[in-house]
Amino acid sequence: MRAVICWFCLVMTVVVGLCKPSFADDAKAPARKGKNVIYITWDGFRWQEMFGGAQEILIAKDAGVADIEGVKRRFWRESEIERREVLLPFVWKTIAKQGQIFGNPATNAAAKMENTHKFSYPGYSEMFCGFADDKGIDSNKKFPNPHVNVLEFLNHRPGFEKRVAAIATWDVFPSILNQERSGVYVHAGPGPIPGNSLSDREKLLNEMIADTVMLWPDNQLDVITMQVAREYLLKHKPRVLFIGLGETDEWGHGRRYDRYLHAANRADAFVSKLWDLLQSLPEYKDQTSLVLGCDHGRGSTIRDWTDHGAKVEGAEFVWSAVLGPDTPALGVRSDVNATLSQIAATLAVLVGEDFRATSPKSAAPLADVVKKSERP
Ligand SMILES: [Zn+2]
Repeated sequence: MRAVICWFCLVMTVVVGLCKPSFADDAKAPARKGKNVIYITWDGFRWQEMFGGAQEILIAKDAGVADIEGVKRRFWRESEIERREVLLPFVWKTIAKQGQIFGNPATNAAAKMENTHKFSYPGYSEMFCGFADDKGIDSNKKFPNPHVNVLEFLNHRPGFEKRVAAIATWDVFPSILNQERSGVYVHAGPGPIPGNSLSDREKLLNEMIADTVMLWPDNQLDVITMQVAREYLLKHKPRVLFIGLGETDEWGHGRRYDRYLHAANRADAFVSKLWDLLQSLPEYKDQTSLVLGCDHGRGSTIRDWTDHGAKVEGAEFVWSAVLGPDTPALGVRSDVNATLSQIAATLAVLVGEDFRATSPKSAAPLADVVKKSERP
């Protein structure tokens, strides 16, 4: 008996000894820092401009550019690296250096949507719900999305209740995010900011909203969406905020490559200013992740770059970018597959939550956007 006990003690000593290094590793693993996530989409913005800047073939009268010399001065540079930096300085000087960018075909990392429709409602539903539903989600009509989305999931998690919001240019988001069922605050499209205790800046924004000559019946101007989102952030301090910008898609459909570029350049500047604002606020500084993305691509020729949809070749390609305190600085990702479906679980994992536990059909988070040891 005595010999048995000694043998047992010896075995336990060895086992505990073997286990020690992993306990020590866990103790050393840095605590997760991300408490908030801001997700911003640029509707229908192509991977070609994301990774290559302005495309020479489209700086042309046939692509709707009247002032060709002016657009070239502003956005054309001989090298691809300079071209993309002058178009999207925050993406390339900050996110590419401190975060990660997915979707570059040149580095064997093309990103695709899984739905076959290649237009907005199916794209946004796929990214927010984590899977494609070709049969159920097949139009841009304002029907309530039957699927649970990640904003809705987070809105019901402890510590996130009523701290999840969406501000968007396009007026279909209340349906896509099923505002009624999800309880997520959604302000989308051309309407005024609701409420009785508006700040002076919000009152001014509402005057501008009322007096703006609308260019599209279902879309607000991005500059208004940006400012409404900024005010919402300052006033309500959401932990999860989606900002959906839309002019890139509208100017694309309008065959105005000059304004398409301009809209993307202003969207980048907005993200830059928002990032600076976040770092100046104690609730957000060093504990907020930023994710950028798009809902679909567009055609690749001078004829069909304006368009997207099931029959448009190449419109299935998308991209995304991630920056934040838990995201390793891997830069432009290579040799990795990514899909639009992965956005939902990615947004959740960046705030320490597991969307797939509730929604098993949802795709996994984008690879290595957080260190493995820091996943929930
Ligand atoms: Zn479109």
